[in-house]
Amino acid sequence: MNWKEEKIIYNFVDNFVDFPNKYAITMFFTGCNLNCPFCYNKHVVNGEGNFSINDVIEKKTQIENCFNNFKIGMVFSGGEPTIQNKFEDIINTFVNDHPLAIHTNGIIIPNFKNCFESVVLSLKFKECGIPENYVDILRNALYYYKECKQKEINVVKVKNYLDEYTYYLNELKEDIDNLGYKVIFSNNIKEGV
Ligand code: SF4
Repeated sequence: MNWKEEKIIYNFVDNFVDFPNKYAITMFFTGCNLNCPFCYNKHVVNGEGNFSINDVIEKKTQIENCFNNFKIGMVFSGGEPTIQNKFEDIINTFVNDHPLAIHTNGIIIPNFKNCFESVVLSLKFKECGIPENYVDILRNALYYYKECKQKEINVVKVKNYLDEYTYYLNELKEDIDNLGYKVIFSNNIKEGV
């Protein structure tokens, strides 16, 4: 089967919310490399895929035809989008014609040049199963996405983990400030949770 036909997407939605200042299609990829106790999207992480990249392309074309080749932002979310085997091919499918955004936990850094316009990096904690060298991994992620126009670190307020979050944010404070990341504390998780 062609990889574009594989059902690796739990759901996708078109919206005005997920891409700064743009109409967007957000793809929620199945699967994740972490197991956060408060994941709101377990059904996406553990669920079967229902849609393929070809389904997304079809929807995108319909919207473009309706709105006279309107430029749509493509948002890669989940679950964790970077774990997809064909992630680079998926990105290459859209990169030339669309602004791209990613919602990621930052554990896997893509092995191609950053081509995202917007990134939301979600901070995690030990109980999620983060690696020992989490701070170094996050620092690498901060640098990988540094050219993005919009750069956000999403910290979901979970009382028991505030000390742990504070530690990571303090360790990375200089990099966060120098690279221009905005730290957002919220009750809503953007990266699939
Ligand atoms: S919260 Fe995010 S990183 Fe954690 S399991 Fe859910 S999708 Fe994965």
